[in-house]
Amino acid sequence: MSAFPTQAEIVVIGGGIIGCSTAYHLAKLHKADVVLLERGKLTCGTTFHAAGLVGQLRSSASITQILKYSVELYDGLEAETGLATGWKRNGGLRLANNPDRWTEIRRQATTAHSFGLEMELLTPAEAKALWPLMDTGDLVGAAFLPTDGQANPSDITLSLAKGARMAGARIVEEVEVTGITLADGRISGLATTLGDIICEKVVNCAGQWAGEVGGLAGVTVPLQSVQHQYMVTEAIEGVASDLPTLRDPDRLIYFKEDVGGLVMGGYEPNPLAWAEEGFPENFAFSLLDSDWDHFEQLMMQALVRVPALETVGIKTLLNGPESFTPDGNFILGEAPEVRNFFVGAGFNAYGIAAAGGAGKTLAEWVVTGEQPMDLWGVDIRRFSSLHSDRAWVRDRTLEAYGKHYTMAWPHEEYQSGRPRLTSPLYQRLKAGNACFGSKLGWERPNWFAPAGSDPVDVYTFGRPNWFDAVGEEHRACRERVALFDLSSFSKFELRGPDAEAALSWICANDVAKAPGHLTYSQLLNSRGGIECDLTVARLAEDAYYIVTGTGFRSHDASWIRRNIKDGLAAELTDITEDWGTLALMGPRARQLLQQVSEDDWSNEAFPFARHREITIAGHRVRALRVTFVGELGWELHMPIAISGEVYDALMSAGAGFGIANAGYRAIESLRLEKGYRVWGAEITPADSPFDAGLGWAVKLKTNTPFLGREAASEQAVGPRSKLLACFTVDDPEVVLQGRETILRNGEPVGWLASGGWGYSVEKNIGYGYVRNGAGVTIDYLKSGSYELEVA
Ligand SMILES: Cc1cc2nc3c(=O)[nH]c(=O)nc-3n(C[C@H](O)[C@H](O)[C@H](O)COP(=O)(O)OP(=O)(O)OC[C@H]3O[C@@H](n4cnc5c(N)ncnc54)[C@H](O)[C@@H]3O)c2cc1C
Repeated sequence: MSAFPTQAEIVVIGGGIIGCSTAYHLAKLHKADVVLLERGKLTCGTTFHAAGLVGQLRSSASITQILKYSVELYDGLEAETGLATGWKRNGGLRLANNPDRWTEIRRQATTAHSFGLEMELLTPAEAKALWPLMDTGDLVGAAFLPTDGQANPSDITLSLAKGARMAGARIVEEVEVTGITLADGRISGLATTLGDIICEKVVNCAGQWAGEVGGLAGVTVPLQSVQHQYMVTEAIEGVASDLPTLRDPDRLIYFKEDVGGLVMGGYEPNPLAWAEEGFPENFAFSLLDSDWDHFEQLMMQALVRVPALETVGIKTLLNGPESFTPDGNFILGEAPEVRNFFVGAGFNAYGIAAAGGAGKTLAEWVVTGEQPMDLWGVDIRRFSSLHSDRAWVRDRTLEAYGKHYTMAWPHEEYQSGRPRLTSPLYQRLKAGNACFGSKLGWERPNWFAPAGSDPVDVYTFGRPNWFDAVGEEHRACRERVALFDLSSFSKFELRGPDAEAALSWICANDVAKAPGHLTYSQLLNSRGGIECDLTVARLAEDAYYIVTGTGFRSHDASWIRRNIKDGLAAELTDITEDWGTLALMGPRARQLLQQVSEDDWSNEAFPFARHREITIAGHRVRALRVTFVGELGWELHMPIAISGEVYDALMSAGAGFGIANAGYRAIESLRLEKGYRVWGAEITPADSPFDAGLGWAVKLKTNTPFLGREAASEQAVGPRSKLLACFTVDDPEVVLQGRETILRNGEPVGWLASGGWGYSVEKNIGYGYVRNGAGVTIDYLKSGSYELEVA
């Protein structure tokens, strides 16, 4: 009843479960001055019609941690606020109907154990004892997660809203945000149907409308609304109130108990998009028409699993729209386009499960400006300008929806919206029998099939069909010379009279070197965690050329731009699509280059960590002496239009040196052998260079101030609670993929961040942190006896 607020520190837009959880955590944990604005009534968007299953298992440690926190929060919320939540920890069952799914489930159990989540493997008979109504004739096995549960989505949201109010948040309903105002690229306020608000930060939790709300500030939030249906039955004899939730991914369906009956829904392979032409006005507490014809495919599967459905009455077939994303992960964090504009949206039908942890994490991100842990999988900066293409986002999102319950194969690639970005080598590599993958829109050669065989991935949890072909590429690089098309690398130029001062503050390594030098550097956050990992070439006193991974384009550009100190004259330009990159790697690389170029490639004239302008096939090319595969070699960077001619010159001269095309899977094997770290795997914002064995690349011996220096100085001297270690496995039949549990003297101490086969050492190789609260030293590492739990 109080007056409409005209000023606030933080405004949360949207009163669904995500907005309410974010406001709750902002007010309760951070004592922030927070206002939540909801266009209709709380829960009126998607939240009110969710089924309410709360599962916790994901393939990332951080996301699993987020979901685990939700469960811990929901355990105590009702007691805290006095408002019922419908929350019960009735556990969750997950079924396997075939041997591959059983392997996947056993691998998931390993992952769960790695992340400290209880997950038991059951026989079909044990599963039936927990869920007597189901037919188990086709089951191979099942898993049970005893701490999973279910909630009433509206009740739990209202309970979070009450908790937020109790902590001081102001919640205003029936007010629509109609405009967002910026000053110097930052949030300065909002326009609403009840008047303007001056504020410092905005959190966009507008559910399926988050794309529209983002548009008010020029921010892309790539979402697609998809129709999602579940049916609700009358009471069925034998359905107890503590019946666990049930997921039957091979049949694409899920179940939960509901007032003595069942809720059954699923993820069909041919989903139906909704609101492609825009949202109808006043879509509040609204549903879509039931579509029995479309639901029939799921119903047929459900009848096999639960024969009692043949005779029970159906109360309703509910059809509600939910926002899905192009990779099936939700979207969190500060938008790269606008400072202090945060997003929490796109929850892919697990927003009830994620809300507790996502709201807590987002609140911390909003308050501190830095992500509190490794959130790369859900970070809004994983997208690029590609994701402002609505049609592309729709197609990829529908494909991702269709894969919600299908097997998550190692190395699986999406097929929709391809090819999108290609280098001039695309047709040449295709003619060379390349099997392509896609990353941030780019087609990239993963491997090359031998002549006469199809360049097609056959997915498996065992040794894949491309195993031998990648081995050939690997050996070509180690023993002769290989050519890699790395044109998708993200490339930036930083120019301006203060370029050195700006970059010296941002980079942990020393980049204040003379033109012609190359520097490998981490960029640290204020906690000393690794935010980016890239290579910097000094072009001139006032210019740097920066190269980073394909997927990190928006992320790294945003981190650099935001950390250029106010008042410095230095500007970052993204030149990714203008420049192509070929990597010529292997012991014969120098001899080959001497044949196609008159430049001096000797070690004296062109040592490691230097770059030069050279000429190949009559074209000026920027050569960087650097390697990610651990061999003599050069990265050749050039205006992308000429890369085809340079490639042709190298391939034709290379014939005499045994040159081979090689792809990204060979790179992975080569880099695993050499121990080069990958950002997002072994090194993340949650890891310090000193934990990762990269302390040598931190300029603590200089007096130059840099971002993260204070934390890094402390980390350099320890004590350390984890250290990155390399593991090889004696049994060659094992297939490592990452996330396998590390056991030290029989006790779990961590998990593999990455794993794969090393063709030169002929062993499985994995990297992971060994963790111990009481301290980890090299002696501690070496004195242990190690095993890995694999499936
Ligand atoms: C059929 C179905 C079943 C589901 N089952 C489950 C399940 O079992 N488990 C699970 O975890 N998840 C499930 N989900 C997903 C879950 O419902 C969503 O992920 C979750 O509700 C999303 O919450 P939200 O807060 O992001 O969005 P919403 O609840 O849609 O909230 C966004 C709010 O923003 C408001 N808003 C929009 N624009 C403006 C504006 N300009 N100004 C002010 N306010 C604005 C809207 O009115 C809306 O209330 C299911 C979804 C569906 C459709």
